[in-house]
Amino acid sequence: MPLLEVNNLKLHFITRQGPAQAVDGVSFKIEENETFGLIGESGCGKTTTALGIIRLIKSPGRIVEGSIYFDNRDIVPLSEEEMRLLRGQEIAIVRQEAQNALNPVMNIGKQIIEVILQHENVSRETAWARARNQLDLVGINGNRVKSYPHEFSGGMKQRAMVAIATACNPKFLILDEPTTGLDVIVQRQLLALINNLKKELNLTSILISHDLSVVAETCDKVAVMYAGKIVEQGDTVSMYQNPLHPYSQALIGAFPHLKGEKKKLKSIPGAPPRLIMPPEGCRFEPRCEHAMEKCKTIDPAVIEKDGHRVACHLID
Ligand code: SF4
Repeated sequence: MPLLEVNNLKLHFITRQGPAQAVDGVSFKIEENETFGLIGESGCGKTTTALGIIRLIKSPGRIVEGSIYFDNRDIVPLSEEEMRLLRGQEIAIVRQEAQNALNPVMNIGKQIIEVILQHENVSRETAWARARNQLDLVGINGNRVKSYPHEFSGGMKQRAMVAIATACNPKFLILDEPTTGLDVIVQRQLLALINNLKKELNLTSILISHDLSVVAETCDKVAVMYAGKIVEQGDTVSMYQNPLHPYSQALIGAFPHLKGEKKKLKSIPGAPPRLIMPPEGCRFEPRCEHAMEKCKTIDPAVIEKDGHRVACHLID
């Protein structure tokens, strides 16, 4: 039984020109203890999908269709109050750019104990002791519990965000571009920390990144998003070695693996389509070197091939 099952999720932003179909019919499953990578260019819908799962989409965005089963219960119909209880305790998020996500006028310990006291009936003393432990857990000396965000480096701020997110031992953690803006060494340290926490806390997680090499190091499965849709998903090793969708092939060709042979960066000509009244056929068609006539008018269905789920007429 998957811990998270997203079915045909559609999340639109209502604008004067019409709905912007930011997430359009996305489906995937994440089993317990799995890390699921979501990759794609900026604006492809990765973060919107994640914010939809944790129900932090701001108006005029809204879920217009689909279900999100978490621990066997559809959380789409839950009230904001019910979601507030779930957030932090069951599902937590580490937002991109810790710089902006941390409260600059509150010390780190207080930001951790706020989460604990919101969800658990424990004394402040216990919560402070747990805050120290949380910092130790993410490799920051627990004595820094009274430090303010500006006293931390970029990598430490991101670790502090992980400490806050995991304070109530959630089952599911969303990591939204956790390594963005960090130098390569700090990036690798953070990835090692995430991998350790996964085992130590039995975490199931979703990792969002525009960098396939980060996903390859961390994830069991990966889904490639393009213009609001998942165009291909499968086991990470297989996706990396044998991508089937032309966009996955172009994206994977564009990023060198952190450990492997450095490939020449390959850019993908063109830009993604507008999400207000997108093309009725394949959304990648204007940029695809394999495009056929039917790609202009028929949206490709998702097909299983070689263990991947792919939406492309080449696989039909
Ligand atoms: Fe290219 Fe057609 Fe496949 Fe779209 S459906 S990726 S345009 S071949």
